[in-house]
Amino acid sequence: MKAIYQDIFPVVLEQDILYISRAYSTTAHLCASGCGFRVVLPLGKGGWTLIDKQGLTISPSVHVPKCNSHYWIRHGRIQWAQQLSADEIQAYGAADQLEYNEELRKKSLGDRVKAFLKRLIGRH
Ligand SMILES: [Zn+2]
Repeated sequence: MKAIYQDIFPVVLEQDILYISRAYSTTAHLCASGCGFRVVLPLGKGGWTLIDKQGLTISPSVHVPKCNSHYWIRHGRIQWAQQLSADEIQAYGAADQLEYNEELRKKSLGDRVKAFLKRLIGRH
């Protein structure tokens, strides 16, 4: 997984790229499962920690509710983690929901329709 530093994320993300916005203290990438879900992880207090040293490392782990994927990004590689228990999913769920709402808020309706159509037609 490679890092691209840019303040505003592109509308269409590429797989295996971690987009990092220093201006907004946020990262974005496509779910490692290939499901196409746009994973947005805020950095800093209450969010994730990013270390760009000998490859990207993000902690804690990433859980994607859409496909129930759970993985770590360590030294630029995806390390698949155990599937979460129901309790853990609940704990993560709250955070995921917040980010998802934030994403929806930012996107205009047009973008959402376009994204939906894109998903219908297929990835990329
Ligand atoms: Zn996925």
